[in-house]
Amino acid sequence: MTGPAGPTGPARLLAGIGVGHPVGLGDHLQQWGRLPPMRPDHLLDEVDRSGLRGHGGAWFPVGAKWAAVRAAGLRSPVVVANGAEGEPASGKDRLLLERFPHLVLDGAAAAAAALRARRVVVHVGAAAVAGVQAALGERDRRGVDPCPVEIVVAPDRFIAGQESAVVNTIVGRTPGIPSFTGLRPVREQGVGGRPTLVQNVETLAHVALIARFGAEWFRSVGTPEAPGTLLLTVTGHWDTPRIVEAPLGAPLGAVLGIGPADARGIQGVLLGGYGGGWLPAGPALNLPLTEESARALGSSLGPGVVVVLPDGICPWAEVARVVRYLEGESAGQCGPCVNGLDTLATTVEHLAWRPRTLRGGVAGLPTLCGLIEGRGACHHPDGVARFVRSALGVFGEHAELHLRRGPCSDAYAPVLPVPRAAPPALARSLP
Ligand code: SF4
Repeated sequence: MTGPAGPTGPARLLAGIGVGHPVGLGDHLQQWGRLPPMRPDHLLDEVDRSGLRGHGGAWFPVGAKWAAVRAAGLRSPVVVANGAEGEPASGKDRLLLERFPHLVLDGAAAAAAALRARRVVVHVGAAAVAGVQAALGERDRRGVDPCPVEIVVAPDRFIAGQESAVVNTIVGRTPGIPSFTGLRPVREQGVGGRPTLVQNVETLAHVALIARFGAEWFRSVGTPEAPGTLLLTVTGHWDTPRIVEAPLGAPLGAVLGIGPADARGIQGVLLGGYGGGWLPAGPALNLPLTEESARALGSSLGPGVVVVLPDGICPWAEVARVVRYLEGESAGQCGPCVNGLDTLATTVEHLAWRPRTLRGGVAGLPTLCGLIEGRGACHHPDGVARFVRSALGVFGEHAELHLRRGPCSDAYAPVLPVPRAAPPALARSLP
């Protein structure tokens, strides 16, 4: 293999993070070299052997996903680089697109070559369009990409990155809204009826490095079961959010630089974003960063969001604002979202700000969660239910405090970001 060697430390995607501006094509090629020519089968095999999994939130094995797209039919597939990043607490995809767009575009080109795709779509929020356009202009001038690449603007919605919602946006059907389950998966029948690979942009950036340095290099960091690194967007405990790259399997506390003594000042840790789950500080900081470990505790790595909630913040006020936001983000086309989310949001708002109106205490919340779980066309209501259930598990004592003494003072800056804060529905009666 010619060209620069792969980085040896845990900083891979962010190895050039010291550069304070978008890395242009010239600097990118100097740092990483060109994508080597590879036979499609070899590249597919290399990605499969690397053990890379999707970093958009589902953690599905990438090799298996690519194989499913390849097996779906004779028509050439479509590759979608998905940078919608609808999760408000996540910023790692935006960082990659702004600073290292060629890494993402190389990954998309490699996926297109492996799958023999003739169309690549970059699906990103409006703020990322100019940067991606500039990067594509550089690549056009040097003839880098083997097939046309177009940009489609992702709607600014929480669920816009869901696979079928991405396809609906690209074909202009119901932009940003998922399709009902029961239809064929997009990897078999997606954009224009073609097999479609929808792959998160961080995942594609890893692909760009695997295509250059190989599966063994990729597996040299992380654990045998969870190789490689992941990007985390970390917020809450610090003045400003930060994005860090960590080896998979490393304990979260070590990655964050938070020791056991500091855990006393932490009320809880949200892992995986608003579709993930809250964990108590101790287990969260000891958690090895793998999807299996997170799931064993009822959470998920999701898109790599970590919110460390310090003392002095009312957790139920935070949870209530987010649940109301998530209620407003549903597509409003399935029963659990139409009938259940508003009631759930209203109940949590009462717990946060009018706890004495909850005559049955918090006993009704698990029942409400149970009524909306597993009944939607997408997993949005399931994620909201997990968010609330896990909050009950971690902040149960704080809920009892509200019920006994009334709400906390809300004289602090909110911690969990909510782009479109809706007013609480406290005037509405509870069931
Ligand atoms: S479950 Fe909710 S968010 Fe998902 S498609 Fe149905 S209405 Fe939309």
